[in-house]
Amino acid sequence: MTIAQHAAITSAVCAGLYLAFRSPGMAIACFAAGVFIDLDHFLDYAVNFAPRFGLRHFFECFKDRVFNRVIVFLHAWEWVALAIAIACATRSGVAAGIAAGLLLHMALDQAFNRHNP
Ligand SMILES: [Zn+2]
Repeated sequence: MTIAQHAAITSAVCAGLYLAFRSPGMAIACFAAGVFIDLDHFLDYAVNFAPRFGLRHFFECFKDRVFNRVIVFLHAWEWVALAIAIACATRSGVAAGIAAGLLLHMALDQAFNRHNP
């Protein structure tokens, strides 16, 4: 799943969260967690191509599925479980937004990516 697809779907879910809970912090946290979790792909890119770096090449590598093995340490169901536990313990809207964003991102990756978390 591309970052644009993640951004589009996550935006829709965040809008729904905002409408349901009227919490801008929750919606923003959901979007940030749901999209920027993919920043860990930079590590895979760096491991394979450093010191070369090009943003266009970076996106082409993931679009063309150049990598056979990826190390995406933020893409772990354990982080989702931890975020849900923190959200339940703190009853924080921001924590709930983070948990929702992580859960959504992981579910989308699990369903649509060749490499499963
Ligand atoms: Zn991802």
